[in-house]
Amino acid sequence: MIIRKAAVAKFLDGLLKEYAVYIPRRREGYSEYTPLDPGSGYFWQGLNTQKPPKELLFPHGETLYSYRLRSDGVELRTHFDEEKRVLFGIRPCDAKGFCYLDRVFTRQDYQDVYYQTRRNNTVLIGLACLAPTTTCFCTSLGGGPFDTEGLDLLWVDLGERYAVRVLAPKGEALIKGRPEFVPAGEADWQAVRELEGGALGKMAPVLDLSGLKKRLDENYSDSVWDRVFEKCIGCAACTYLCPTCHCFDLSYEVEGSQGLCVRTWDSCAFPLFTLHASGHNPRPTGKERFRQRVMHKFRYFVENWGVMSCVGCGRCIIHCPVNLDIRDVLRQIIAGVSA
Ligand code: SF4
Ligand code: SF4
Repeated sequence: MIIRKAAVAKFLDGLLKEYAVYIPRRREGYSEYTPLDPGSGYFWQGLNTQKPPKELLFPHGETLYSYRLRSDGVELRTHFDEEKRVLFGIRPCDAKGFCYLDRVFTRQDYQDVYYQTRRNNTVLIGLACLAPTTTCFCTSLGGGPFDTEGLDLLWVDLGERYAVRVLAPKGEALIKGRPEFVPAGEADWQAVRELEGGALGKMAPVLDLSGLKKRLDENYSDSVWDRVFEKCIGCAACTYLCPTCHCFDLSYEVEGSQGLCVRTWDSCAFPLFTLHASGHNPRPTGKERFRQRVMHKFRYFVENWGVMSCVGCGRCIIHCPVNLDIRDVLRQIIAGVSA
């Protein structure tokens, strides 16, 4: 299908009758997905947001349930977020990131109903990347600037218009009968193919990660770990900004006879993450914590789910305060201690 750019704001406003619509926006000093206000239009220039859309399905902090003790028992209330929402302009790497969160939160033996409720109520409209930047390495991890995994629609910028690929029933239902959309012609799809070729041509050479898992299986005690973590100051920006990181903590806030169970993001970069009540910490220094981040993403996740838990979005490279580049780390690990 095709939609003119001039008609996009009207289309998005129309969605507001049924959905909350989130769009990428620049804030002071950073960018993130924010709710669209009626009539506010859609203006976004830039590749991807600093904060991934992860928190719209897996919030940084959320109340799971609350309770109140009564004379005849306990009153318990669960807090589900059932807002119907559309995420507009999500990049293919971030959509793929949701597929990895799905593996963790919607698996058969453990269903996270909080995440699952949001996921079921969310439609993902993707925007193909025409000009990947130097920190993008999605093609090294099975993705690509026009990748469709996890998306319901993929939009491609053709200048004054967008070409729209329908990928899933949720996407089809969203645009069905909408007068802003007209069928695309063969020339439009040819233009899409050319743009995809151009975007792929701008990507950095693919990083060969084929030997990585085997190296990680063997190198737990290698001296390579003494070297690669050295710059890391343990700020956790890389995990908080990562679309696939999903560790969390549960805490209980109690006041008198009532209380809340609250879930907040946590990070393997923090010393407290593994601190035992005894005072013992099995990951006592930055070296063990950094190794855990790499091992979880590129070894344990592969063992559990068959894929590396990284989509190559590059956020951890762009925003690391000490310029620690995960691609360099992986290269050093593959090369081994003599690198
Ligand atoms: S963002 Fe950089 S310094 Fe901060 S925890 Fe991650 S690797 Fe370490
Ligand atoms: S590890 Fe870095 S590049 Fe990979 S998905 Fe996370 S933030 Fe993006």
